[in-house]
Amino acid sequence: MSKLLSVSNVSKEFSVNGTKVQALDNVSLDVETGECLAIVGESGSGKSTIANIILGIYPATSGTLTFKDKELPATRAKEHRRAIQLVQQNPLSSLNPRRSIGASLRLALDVHDIGDRASRAERTGELLAEVGLPPEFRTRSPSSLSGGQRQRVAIARALACQSELVVLDEPTSALDVLVQARVLKLLNDLKDRRGLTTSSSPMTCRSCAISQTALRSSNAASSSNSA
Ligand code: ADP
Ligand code: MG
Repeated sequence: MSKLLSVSNVSKEFSVNGTKVQALDNVSLDVETGECLAIVGESGSGKSTIANIILGIYPATSGTLTFKDKELPATRAKEHRRAIQLVQQNPLSSLNPRRSIGASLRLALDVHDIGDRASRAERTGELLAEVGLPPEFRTRSPSSLSGGQRQRVAIARALACQSELVVLDEPTSALDVLVQARVLKLLNDLKDRRGLTTSSSPMTCRSCAISQTALRSSNAASSSNSA
């Protein structure tokens, strides 16, 4: 396996009302191509912060990130925005309520110029099928879907633009237990795509991850293989 993502000595400090909050302290981790890595840690240990830094939503205070052996700049190139995708905890806030499901998926294809224009409508149907939803869902709005269905759409969107690394920030913790199990099964089925899972849920780790990294309150990451 070759190295897809490398996070080296990343620290993040936030300033809250003039007080410094150390969200991450010297975190290092690697993700190999094809590997599914779970980042575990208690609430507040920095899981979402590291996910946001990998996505380039905000920069690290110090440390470096490399993707396919090239340093990731603070301002990401379009190619990085295509290759690295995020699935958030709450699928309702991550999908535009005014856009149909089909339009949200289509936007990802249009922005990144995936496939020829004529085939994109059909491709949105294929993406829905890939996550176990009927193509008719293209015309529906996010509010007409259940939580689990919305999260499937968010996963389909993350896969739409031929992403190479998918970062999932507790993708099932907003769902009820039965639906969690189904979404986890879907993620497991999709695992042959390269991925990174960030989750505090031991269930996600058991179902999907082939290795795991723990964030402790001190935020020193330690790695172990769980399967
Ligand atoms: P987790 O996702 O593991 O629950 P987070 O990454 O959300 O943890 O938070 C890690 C720490 O950073 C917490 O102490 C949190 O309060 C702080 N933090 C996260 N985001 C911000 C922010 N935008 N501004 C200030 N502090 C933040
Ligand atoms: Mg979080």
